[in-house]
Amino acid sequence: MIKKNTIHDDPPIVRLLPSPCALCGSYDNSNEIYPSNFDLEAFNPEVFSARRLPDRIHYRMVECKKCNLLRSDPVADSDTLLQLYIKSTFSYGNQINFLKKTYGRYLELAKKVSPNATSLLEIGCGSGFFLEEAIKHGIPNVWGVEPSTNAASQAPINLQKKIILDVMRPNLFPKDTTFDIICLFQVLDHMPDPVGTLSECQKLLSPNGVILILNHDIDAWSAKLLGESSPIIDIEHTYLYSKQTLAKILEAAGLKAVEQGCAWNSYDISYLVKLFPFPKFIKSFILFLFKVTLLGKVPVRVPLGNLYSLSVKKQEF
Ligand SMILES: [Zn+2]
Repeated sequence: MIKKNTIHDDPPIVRLLPSPCALCGSYDNSNEIYPSNFDLEAFNPEVFSARRLPDRIHYRMVECKKCNLLRSDPVADSDTLLQLYIKSTFSYGNQINFLKKTYGRYLELAKKVSPNATSLLEIGCGSGFFLEEAIKHGIPNVWGVEPSTNAASQAPINLQKKIILDVMRPNLFPKDTTFDIICLFQVLDHMPDPVGTLSECQKLLSPNGVILILNHDIDAWSAKLLGESSPIIDIEHTYLYSKQTLAKILEAAGLKAVEQGCAWNSYDISYLVKLFPFPKFIKSFILFLFKVTLLGKVPVRVPLGNLYSLSVKKQEF
């Protein structure tokens, strides 16, 4: 299917292609969960930028009858997606300190699995804020992979040379390169080939290394309560995981989950209100009250529907 976007000056040609279940490879053995609701305006770098406010635009979502893996189907071709991520912008704003806290806590869990870790690779490192945090947590040798030129250009100068402007793919690093900790924070949901990407990570993992993944949890109370209105039902997400389906994806990539659980995220209350699908006037009113009372700055730690996972090479067990 080929659609032409007539809204932009330079109209992109977006090819929508059927997507297979990443576990069993089937194309047709699925149930439709939500019909699509996007139009071609959605295919612009703003929509594909980090942490934009949820707008509930999504592809058709289906669930594999055999594996229960939820996926978008059909999806834009991988070249279109890559171009969108290359041009996407970085907009974490004042959430960076909260993200550093959240990810730093899970890094400490990863260090328990790989106590002598000295090297770390982050896939989708954005502006490198977590790489800075990892150095503070005692990991001296940090590297990142990031497709967005805008995001990487915001990294401190000393880290810019440690960020590879690309997506995770074979032969990205010199032969025999290994890392003790490889992190994927909120990126696996976006990947068109999760098993392929994680297999590349597995090859780069040192014998005692650990992969730390944090992503949305389709079984979380918030996802179940909000259904199609949940911010995780989003055109940026190609696959969405539960503990069970993520464990199977890891297995298929030669990894074994040694610990999985519900992730607790640090936020300020205003950010939570922005994420929640309140009617617009109620949201504006609450945000106004928070602003004048400074209540919106109150830090909270909540299980907001994320799943963390620590995995190691399968043959180590
Ligand atoms: Zn399947």
